[in-house]
Parts: sequence; C-alpha cells; structure tokens
Amino acid sequence: MLKNDQLESWDRENFFHPSTHLAEFARGNVPQRVVTGGKGCHIEDRDGNRLLDAFAGLYCVNVGYGRPEIAEAIAEQAKEIAYYHAYVGHGTEASITLAKMVLDRAPSNMSKVYFGLSGSDANETNIKLVWYYNNILDRPEKKKIISRWRGYHGSGLMTGSLTGLAAFQQKFDLPLDRVIHTEAPYYFRRDDLSMSEAEFVAHCASELEALIEREGADTIAAMIGEPALGTGGLVPPPAGYWQAIQEVLDKHDILLIADEVVTGFGRLGTMFGSEHYGIRPDVITIAKGLTSAYAPLSGSILSDKVWKVLEEGTDKFGPIGHGWTYSAHPIGAAAGVANLRLLDELNLVSNAGSVGAHFKAALTDALGDHPNVGDIRGEGLLCAVEFVENRDGRVFFDPARTMGAKVNAALLARGVISRAMPQGDILGFAPPFCLTESEAEEIASKLKDAVAEVLG
Ligand code: PLP
Repeated sequence: MLKNDQLESWDRENFFHPSTHLAEFARGNVPQRVVTGGKGCHIEDRDGNRLLDAFAGLYCVNVGYGRPEIAEAIAEQAKEIAYYHAYVGHGTEASITLAKMVLDRAPSNMSKVYFGLSGSDANETNIKLVWYYNNILDRPEKKKIISRWRGYHGSGLMTGSLTGLAAFQQKFDLPLDRVIHTEAPYYFRRDDLSMSEAEFVAHCASELEALIEREGADTIAAMIGEPALGTGGLVPPPAGYWQAIQEVLDKHDILLIADEVVTGFGRLGTMFGSEHYGIRPDVITIAKGLTSAYAPLSGSILSDKVWKVLEEGTDKFGPIGHGWTYSAHPIGAAAGVANLRLLDELNLVSNAGSVGAHFKAALTDALGDHPNVGDIRGEGLLCAVEFVENRDGRVFFDPARTMGAKVNAALLARGVISRAMPQGDILGFAPPFCLTESEAEEIASKLKDAVAEVLG
C-alpha cells in the first residue's frame, strides 16, 4: 500500500473531488481525509481518527465496513475471470445468479434486470427504455418525464435534469427539455401551514393532475420518484401519497419509475420502498445497496408490461442498441451475490427496521423539545433532523448562516459522521444496517451536545 507524506499535496494538486468547493480545496481551506480502514459502522483515517459513520458513506455501505465474505467473493471472481462483457448473451455465474436473486426479492410483476454501474447510469437507461417503449407502441409524442422538486436521480445530463435541486443544475445548462417537475411530498415544508396531511396529499395529487392537463397526457411518458425523498431532505411521504399519485398516473397511462437507489435492499426495514408504501412501479432503479458499494453496480428492473414491449421492439428492429462495456461486471456481480446473502444471513433488513425505530425514538428523546428542532423524521435507518430559527410559525434559518453544516461539523468533532443535506438546514442519518441500539443512542446523545454547542 502507498505510504508516504506527500499525499496531502498530491491530493490538492491532482485530484478533482466530486461535490467539492474546488478553489477552496486547492487553497487548502477544505479539510482532507485519507480513509484507511473500516469495520462495522466505523471508519478510520491515516491521522488515527476512528469515526462512527452514521451515513454509511453515501448511504450505501449497508452491510457495514470490512466484511471478509464480500472481499473474498471479489477476490475469487478476480482470480477466476475478472472481466468479460455481457453483450449478445454472455454472462458469468455471478451475473446470472445475481439477476435471479434480484428478481426473487423484487415485486412480483417484475420480469428482468439490466445491470449498469451507478444510480445515474441506471436512470439514464430507464429514460432511454421508456422512450424506446413509447416508440415501439407508436406513440412518438409521449416522451416527457415528470420528476419532483427535491428529487435526486443522479448527476448525468438526463438524471441531473430529473434531479430537482438547484445545486446540481446551475451553470450546467440543465434541466434539458422533456423534464418537468411537480410538488415534493414534503409536508413539513408545505406552503400553507393550515393544511392537514390528508389535504396536502390531495394537493400534491391535484398539482400533478394539473401539470398533466397543462402539458397533455399524450406528451408524458413517465414519472420518476424515490419512495422516500433522499438527498432532497430524507422525507418519508405523507400517508396515502403514493396511492393518490399512482391513481393519477394510471388514469393517464403514464409509467412509474421507482428510484430505489437508496431504499432498495432494506434501508426502510423492508426489502424495497415500493413494498413499504404499496407502490406498483413499472421500472425500479437499484444501485448502492445492491453491493453495499463494495464494487460499483446498479440495475434497472423492468416489469412484464415494459419487457414485453422491448421484446416486440427487437423483433421488429433488431438487437437493442443499448449497453455499457462494464454492464454486469463480474466483480460487481460477485460482490452483489455475497452482499445479498449477508443481508439474509445476518437478518439485516429487519435490523434496519427495529434499530431504526429505536434510533428515531432516541433522537426524539434527545432533541424533541429543543426550540430550534422543527422536525425529526424517519423510516427504518433513513432519518433526519431539520433545524429552524423558530419552531412556532416554522421560521427557517437564513441559508447563509449554514446552521445545518455547523451542527454537522460539531457532531463530527465528537466522532460521528452525519450529512448536512444540500438544501435546507437538515442533518441526515443513514447508518449501516448493523448499527446497534447502543450506537444509535451514542449518535443521539452526541447530537444533543453538538446542537447545544451550536444553537444553545
Ligand atoms: N438515485 C438516487 C435516489 C440517489 O440517491 C442517487 C445517489 O445518491 C442516484 C440516483 C445516483 O446514483 P450514483 O451517485 O451512483 O450515480
């Protein structure tokens, strides 16, 4: 392994880090961390720090760090055959087995899985397939995609357009045409505070309906949404939201893509968010939890309804013109097989549900009465605390004061990694599923101290 004292300067001179203030990093004003190891819910860095990672990397290391079972599966695969492509019927034992394991866990109307590398490329695939689908059905005008404000679907050209967060679009000439946004199911941030949850759900459904009527249903191919909003604020939907939305989509023959990159494979305490909320998607996006990020791998799971049309398309027009060199990469597939086995053997999905409930209760005990804590929310191991200047009347802090980031830093100084979400003073928690109840209590109690330091 590389051990030298020049890493800090090499890093600042050569490495373009994603989602980073580039100029401040180059000037040395953004701290660096060289990560050297990890076990369970903790990571270690070369300065000797051991940190409790309450965001599981980027909510992806779901089985926890340092699992030898996955490392060995990757090594075995690399020795057997590290790479072969998946074009025109090629595969490996790992990729074929993983496809079967994914379909065995997916909702029953799902038929096939296409493997990519990242959540972004899987969503790019989904949009291409939805367009292809409508062309085969001879509906060339039915192409627009509805997304929600505060949705996050990736950083590509199309997926950055679907993402409804300003930071991912500004100065990139996004969003592209064909993408339209509708209301986020974010009850805490509703405009009209007098609305009940049920009224807010009806409002979201009628906003969607009005958008469809304005644009014309015959111009709209699909809606994409995360079962519970992730990067936009970690927000479980209000009760009945998905039923109301699905009814509108069905009425207008609009497909539903459930982006389960975060929620897929257990984060909410159930295998899929679709199952958790009773959603009936036509396409499901998976990534992070598929391999717990031990190797890059994503997928697009397609329903029977979509698949039949794709088959019809290739009968008419020949082999489908879509594929990546690294589709179904054997090393990613081997990691996926070992990861899904571990999830089952260690009962980690159910642990995410039970420890998640304990964690939310611990957060509520620690902070429920604080005057600057406006909302504590979560489902399974996807939780958030939202800070406000004044709880009565729900007055938000001026974003320039970066209060969420300050609490995040104070918590990090106490040895816990959380994530200051990009839009709003929202602290996100999405730890590995092996989190114990005592680790959950440790996070809550350190957060209480961090909040006291920053907000009094
Ligand atoms: N979709 C969702 C819901 C995500 O949270 C993310 C990433 O956080 C993506 C898609 C994009 O995945 P990736 O970063 O692997 O491209």
